[in-house]
Amino acid sequence: MLEVALAQLDAVAERLALDPGIHKRLRQPQRSLIVSVPTLMDDGRLEVFTGFRVQHDLTLGPTKGGIRYHPGVNLGEVTALAMLMSWKCALIGLPYGGAKGGICCDATRMSQGELERMTRRYTSEILLVIGPDQDIPAPDLYTNEQTMAWMMDTYSMHRGITTPGVVTGKPLLLGGSLGRAEATGRGVYYVVKAAARDHDVPMKGARVVVQGFGNVGAVAAKLFYEEDCRVIAVSDSKGGIYNANGLNIAQVLAEDAEGGSVTQHRDGDRISNEEILELECDILIPAATEGQITRKNADRIRARIVAEGANGPTTPEADQILAAKGTTVIPDILANAGGVAVSYFEWVQDLQQYFWHEHQINERLSEVMISAYQRVVALSRKEQVDLRTAALMLAVKRVADGKRLRGLYP
Ligand code: NAD
Repeated sequence: MLEVALAQLDAVAERLALDPGIHKRLRQPQRSLIVSVPTLMDDGRLEVFTGFRVQHDLTLGPTKGGIRYHPGVNLGEVTALAMLMSWKCALIGLPYGGAKGGICCDATRMSQGELERMTRRYTSEILLVIGPDQDIPAPDLYTNEQTMAWMMDTYSMHRGITTPGVVTGKPLLLGGSLGRAEATGRGVYYVVKAAARDHDVPMKGARVVVQGFGNVGAVAAKLFYEEDCRVIAVSDSKGGIYNANGLNIAQVLAEDAEGGSVTQHRDGDRISNEEILELECDILIPAATEGQITRKNADRIRARIVAEGANGPTTPEADQILAAKGTTVIPDILANAGGVAVSYFEWVQDLQQYFWHEHQINERLSEVMISAYQRVVALSRKEQVDLRTAALMLAVKRVADGKRLRGLYP
């Protein structure tokens, strides 16, 4: 993952004729912290987990990025994701640099008590580098509102003052924001709608396929369904369901809320997660995990527009194949930036201790997403490059310009 992130940066640096010194600085994260997280397990054993927090770049403001709990977490992955967060924040114009953190653990096998003790110890170990004006974590894979509440509480107890602005993605009661839970899927919907207009794809009746029915995919599917698109297939980790006439997403959501899988839905045919990507459709939303569209299946993708709800679902080789076929790919740093946009709104509300209405949040989210989309499209036309390259060029240039203006200390 880090190799891909660095290769992307190198290619864009060449296109932008970036100052070699600034390029070198951007290749390295500014700060990386590795901590040990001793945790008492329910059976009396002591487990020592390894945790990370990487702050890629602090040029434009405090850093921002999620915390993931996963057995695959390592320094390389967290560093790559921190770098992507720098580009995502810069692209949509937030006053943040990028960060990422995580603990190498299998959260699915841990009790709530174990998760709480691990989270609190991890928070106290990274306390020196986080804070509302330093670095603001948020949820990511296998972390959620409750994790953020524990982090906020631990930080606040150490400081002796309640500090909601230290994390985002908190419960509403503790200074969370309306609209945050839906923000990423909603942001995907806004940019897809703009892209559909540009490609003369009418939304009414447009065939939409969504891989991954979680925070991002299920919200996007619901909004497309409400817009009278035909959501012909959705999937989760157990597989997918297909109906050429369009699925009743309201019903799929209701069944899903009861703890089931989309595959239990009766009004359609079962389909695998590989097959779902290859369905003929107008809009394909990979919203599950990374590396789903690769050189092996890219030539069988039959969507007109691919919008990356997930981070990194398309490999660089697949990107080239799709570009050659004329498929429009809306890159992750643009398509799924709605989550960090509303995280920013949450932080602003916490700092002001003044909370907005949901319609204000959605309107501001729409403005942020559409204006970023328009800037990316304009540059891609001007430079004759794909949307990913254009998005990275805008983002990297913004951070590099900030670095140039600030100069080198000492
Ligand atoms: P989630 O855990 O809520 O949902 C993931 C969904 O994908 C679930 O339905 C799961 O069953 C399904 N899934 C997992 N593996 C799959 C596979 N191999 N094939 C098909 N489906 C599979 O996660 P999420 O928050 O919706 O995140 C999804 C992606 O979006 C991740 O790449 C994440 O990094 C990215 N993302 C999320 C946010 C956010 O705010 N939640 C923001 C930006 C990016």
